[in-house]
Amino acid sequence: MKEFGLFINGEWQAAKGGKTAPTINPATEEPWATVAVADREDSRKAVAAAKKAHDSGVWRNKSPQERGEILQKVAMAIFERQNELAAAEVQDGGGTMRKAMSMDVPGTAQTFMHFGQYICGDEYKAMLQEEYDEIAPVPSKNYVVREPIGVCVGITPWNFPMIMASWKIAPALAAGNCVVLKPASVTPVTSLMVGEICTQAGVPAGVVNVISGPGGAAGEELATHPDVGKVAFTGSTEVGRRIMQLGAGTLKKVTLELGGKSPNIILKDANLDTAALGALFGTFMHQGQICESGTRVLVHESIHDQIVEKMLAGLKRIQMGDTMEMSTGMGPLVSSAQRDTVEKYVAIGKDQGAKCVAGGKRPANLPKGYYYEPTIFDEVDNKQRIAQEEIFGPVVSVIRFRDEDEAVRIANDSVYGLGGAVWSADKDHAVAVARRIETGTVWVNDYHMINIRFPFGGYKQSGVGRELGKWGLAEYHEVKHIHVGENTPPEGKFYLQLLLN
Ligand code: NDP
Repeated sequence: MKEFGLFINGEWQAAKGGKTAPTINPATEEPWATVAVADREDSRKAVAAAKKAHDSGVWRNKSPQERGEILQKVAMAIFERQNELAAAEVQDGGGTMRKAMSMDVPGTAQTFMHFGQYICGDEYKAMLQEEYDEIAPVPSKNYVVREPIGVCVGITPWNFPMIMASWKIAPALAAGNCVVLKPASVTPVTSLMVGEICTQAGVPAGVVNVISGPGGAAGEELATHPDVGKVAFTGSTEVGRRIMQLGAGTLKKVTLELGGKSPNIILKDANLDTAALGALFGTFMHQGQICESGTRVLVHESIHDQIVEKMLAGLKRIQMGDTMEMSTGMGPLVSSAQRDTVEKYVAIGKDQGAKCVAGGKRPANLPKGYYYEPTIFDEVDNKQRIAQEEIFGPVVSVIRFRDEDEAVRIANDSVYGLGGAVWSADKDHAVAVARRIETGTVWVNDYHMINIRFPFGGYKQSGVGRELGKWGLAEYHEVKHIHVGENTPPEGKFYLQLLLN
C-alpha cells in the first residue's frame, strides 16, 4: 500500500501526533493508500513554513517572468506523471480513468500553464503597476501597484481534488504568495503529489505546503491563524459560512466557491437531441458530484415529452462499472456517506410526489463499490426539496415551464446562483435569457465548459469572489496606492493652511 506524509517545507514529514489514516477506493471499498493525518499543530507548522518562505522573499522577489517559467515547468511535470496522477485520482475519488486522463490531469496542468504564461505577458505587467498624473487636490504622480498578500490557504473538496489544488495553488503562486493547501480528508493523495511536483519543478521549499487532516481541527486552525492573509475555500455552503466566521477574527480575505442547484433551460427551438444529451452530461458527469451540475432541467411544455424520452434513451449509452476501464463513463460516488445522502433525497423526492422515471436505486450488477444509478425525476415542482437542496449525486429534476418569464422565475427561485445553461437555435436570444439568470456562469448550447481564462464563482449563497482568469488572479493581490507629490517649499502645500495659521 502506498504511503504519504504531510508535505511541509519541501519535504515529506510525519504528522506530529504520528497519526495516519487509510484512504478508500470507492469502486472497491478497499483501502489503497495511507496518509498522515495533520492536527492543529501540523497546521501551525505548515503556516510557519509558508510565512518564513514569504518573509525571506525567495518567491515574491522573483520577477513574474521567473515565477511564470517555474509554473510552466510544474505543468510539464504534471503531464510527465499523468498516468500515475490519473490512477491515484481515480482510486482516491472514484471518478473514471476516462475523466482523469481527459479532464483532471490536463485541467490541472493547464491551470499552472495558463497562470504561468499569463504573468509573463504584458497584460499582467499592466495589472501590476498603473500610473496616473493628477493635478488635484495637489499635483502628483500616482502608482497603483499590486503585491502578494502573503500566506494563502486553500481548503478543497473531494470532487475534483487535483484540479481544485491547481485552482488554489497556481494563481496564489503566480501572484507571489506562499500557500498551505488542505485537501478533503477522503481524497488527499493527488494534492500531496502536486505539492511535491511544485517543489521538484523549482518552487522553493516552504512556498507550497500540503497537509491532509480533518476540517474541524487542521482546517479550522488554518482558517483562524493570524499569519494567514487569505483563505480560498471550495465546498459546502455550510462550511463556507463557517470559514467566513473563522476568518472574521483577523479579517482575512475570503473567497468561497460553494454549492449550487443550477438551472438548465431548454427552449422550444433548441436542438432537442443535443439538449437532451447535454442535460444528461450536465447532471451525470462525475456522478453528479459537481458544484455547477445542471440539476434542474427546465423544459418548455411543448417539447417536454420529447426531451424526457430522449434523456431516457441517452441513459442507455452510459456505461457504469470498473473505473479503470476507459469505456466506463460513470463510476461510484465518493463514499458510502455520500450515497446515503443521495438515497435520502431520492426517498424525499418520491414522498413529495415527484415521478421517478429512471434509476432511484443501486445497480444490481455492481454489489461492491458506492455505485448509484443515474436517476431522473419528472414532473418536479421547483418548491420540492429535490429542486431546492444540493444533492451532489446523480439525480436530476425535470421541471416544465409555459413561457420564458416563467422559466427565468423558476431558474432564479433558488438560494444558489452558481451555473446554468440555455439551449436554443437563436444564440442572441439565448444570451438575452442568460443575462436574466442570477448565476455566475451561464453556458449557451453547452454545459460544464469551464474555461480557466474566464471567471468562475457564484451569486447569492453559491459564493463570494471569483476564481480563474485575470479576475481570479486579482483576488490574490493586495492593492497599494503610492502618491508621489512635488518636493516644494511649504508655500506649495495649500493644505497646510487647514491646520496652521
Ligand atoms: P465540506 O464542505 O464539509 O468539505 C470541504 C472541505 O472543507 C474539506 O477539505 C473539509 O475537510 C473542509 N472542512 C470541513 N469542515 C471545516 C471547518 N470547520 N473548517 C475548515 N475546513 C473544514 O464538504 P463535504 O465533503 O462534507 O461534502 C458535503 C456536501 O458539500 C456535499 O454533499 C455537497 O453538497 C457539498 N460540496 C460542494 C462542493 C463544491 O464544489 N461546491 C464540493 C464538495 C462538496 P474534511 O474533508 O477533513 O472534512
